[in-house]
Formats: sequence, structure tokens, C-alpha cells
Amino acid sequence: MNVLKTAARSIEFSNAQMNILEAFANGAPVDAVTAYAFANLEEYHTNRKKLAIGINDECNLSCKHCYYPSSHDFGLRIRKNLLTEENWRKIVAYAIFDNVTTFSIAGKEPLMSPDKTFAILDVLEHEKQVNQEISYEMLTNGTLLAEHAEHLKEYHFENLVVSMDGNLTFHNKIRGQYAFEQLERGLDAAKAHDLKTLAVTTIEINNDANSLKEMFQTIMSKGINRIGIGFCVSTDYNGKIGSSIDDVYETLRAVEDFDKEREKGMNISVNLSATEHAPLVAELYHKGVINKNNMIFPDEVFPQLFFEITPYSMLQVDVIPSGLHNALRIDCDGAVVADCFPIMSPETRGGFTNIRDHKFEIEPVYAMAKKMWIPYVEHLYGGLRAALVKEKNDIVQA
Ligand code: SF4
Repeated sequence: MNVLKTAARSIEFSNAQMNILEAFANGAPVDAVTAYAFANLEEYHTNRKKLAIGINDECNLSCKHCYYPSSHDFGLRIRKNLLTEENWRKIVAYAIFDNVTTFSIAGKEPLMSPDKTFAILDVLEHEKQVNQEISYEMLTNGTLLAEHAEHLKEYHFENLVVSMDGNLTFHNKIRGQYAFEQLERGLDAAKAHDLKTLAVTTIEINNDANSLKEMFQTIMSKGINRIGIGFCVSTDYNGKIGSSIDDVYETLRAVEDFDKEREKGMNISVNLSATEHAPLVAELYHKGVINKNNMIFPDEVFPQLFFEITPYSMLQVDVIPSGLHNALRIDCDGAVVADCFPIMSPETRGGFTNIRDHKFEIEPVYAMAKKMWIPYVEHLYGGLRAALVKEKNDIVQA
């Protein structure tokens, strides 16, 4: 597909996503908007299936904001009926056979289970040699990167994503003593071994402009040129720590200020999910930050909206959840869940099915998941509609 044609599709799909926010702000019913979202997702976003791999329930940190219940209550750790290396090889092989092209190895912390992680990476790298469409990433807290950097150099990651939450003081306050120092050591090793595809994600919560600026400078000094900033979701287990609208404005200001001081070198995306962060998205929508006039359009078609902050930085808003449609995650005990969302409570960690019940075959599981998309998203969109309508009423009354 040529770029022009793709750009036109990208514009159409972006407009469809803005229509969803507009429709909810005007009080449109959830079922009608969800059906519209599904039809658009089917039309524009069927080309790429993604599989996330929750390889273990182990982590060497216990971050205050962590979404995993077992980071806060060790009794909830999943230790039994874990998938074996052989199981994972089978799952990945079936997934590739069924046209899954995008893989994301997460954890908790994948480098706490190096045998399983490298077994999966070996399969993916081998397949990538014959099928360039296959791309894979790994998400790590970076503390064990120094030990594994040399080995990791053998793999062609699309992204090797590490997490950083601010400057030394703030990062260690959230992640624990010496977490920043260990991460820095890992980033230095990654740079020394030329692991070029590093990106960094941060989760923003009660940070300050100075901490963010120092973090950007540290990241640049490690030769990394991409940062994604996400916002924290409050759960029953993380002490209900959640990002506020002030966190969003602080971040946007810090990004703008940082971009004034540099000419090139790093792209920053500030990411918000319309369903996870409905009140924040609603506020930005009604304040005109999320606006058709500052939309930008990527060459590829994504279920997100993009807004320019500066020539180097953008705000990315995830409007149509693609989890259950073409993105699933399999956890360490075989539970299959929609990518990301339901890890936050122990009740939903069993997933909607278990991969073992399907003899590790992946296609029937995607087919099953797709049927659940509408009820799942209707539930999420209920919150988005309520936030958008409430914001509108608040503005009218003020
Ligand atoms: S590093 Fe990630 S998985 Fe580990 S405790 Fe922190 S947020 Fe949770």
C-alpha cells in the first residue's frame, strides 16, 4: 500500500475516533457508539495480530504504582501450574503459524526468568530471519540489563523498552532504593553493547517538572531517542495511586519546555487511554487540547489519535481498545486475557480461557476473544461516556 493511500485511511480512521469522543460528549448511547467503534476497528485495523507474553509473576522490585496485585500482596503470586519453556515454544510457533506478527515479552520482569525468555527469543529470532514481518519487543525494568546486555545483542528487537519514573530521587521513591542506579548501569551496558532499539516508558504520578527534565536529560545521555510517558491507573492494590489531570498538564509543560532547549535527538509521546483514563481524556477534550485542529496523521493506521505538542513530541490517545480484537496476552499460568487491562485484579487474572484448554493453539482463542469485544468495550465505554457528559455539564454550570 502506498503512503498516500495509507495516509488517507489514517485520516479516515482518526476522524472516526474523534467522532466517538464527540458522540459521547453529546450523550449518544453506549451500545450504538460501541457498535460504530467495532465496525471501524474491523475495517481499518485487521492486519496485525499481537500477542503479549506475561512470562512470570516474579519481579525484583515492588514499585508503589505497580498494577500487579501480587506486587503488593505476595500471597497472591502465581507459583503453580506455570507454563514450561516447551509450552512457550509451542505457543509462539502456533501463533506465528496463525499469522500473529507482533510479540511483546513482558512479565512482570522477563529477565527474572532468563531461560524461558531466551527460549522464546530464540524462536522469534529464528522466524524473523525468514519472515521480516515478525517484530518483537521486551519490556523490562532495566535492573538486570547489565547482566544480559551481551546476550541480548544477538536479537533484533523492534523495541527494548525499559521503565524510568523520574530523576534519581523520584524513581527510587517509587521503585525502591538503588533501583535508579541499577537501571543506569543497565542503560550504560545497553549503550556499550549498541542495543540501538531502546525506548523508555515512564509512568507519571505526582512528579515535578525538574524531575522530568532531569530524567529526559539522563535518557538522552544514554543515547536513547524515544520516550513514551504513560499515566498511572489507580487499583485496589496499589493504594489507589492514580495520575491526576495536574500530572498530565505538568507532563505536557515539561515536554514543551524540554523541547525548547534542544534541536533534535529525541521523540517523546505522552500516552493516554480513553478508557483507563476517561476523566483525564474528558478534561483534555473539553479544554480543546484534544482537538481536530491539532491532529496529526501517521503513515500507518493505528487505533489511536495523535496530537502535536511540539515538532518532536506528541500526545497519543488510545480511543478504540484493540485488546480482545487482535491483541491478547497469555500469562505465566496459561490464562488468556485482553492485553493489559485485566491484570489489575486477582478476580480477572484467571482470564477468559486457558491456553492449555486449546492444546496451545492460538487461532481458536483469538476467535473466542473477538466475540467478547462488544460487551467488554461497552463496559469500558460506559465510564468514558459518563466522564465526557459530566465534564460537559460541569463546564455549562460553571
Ligand atoms: S518493575 Fe514493573 S512489574 Fe516490577 S514491581 Fe515495578 S511496575 Fe511492577
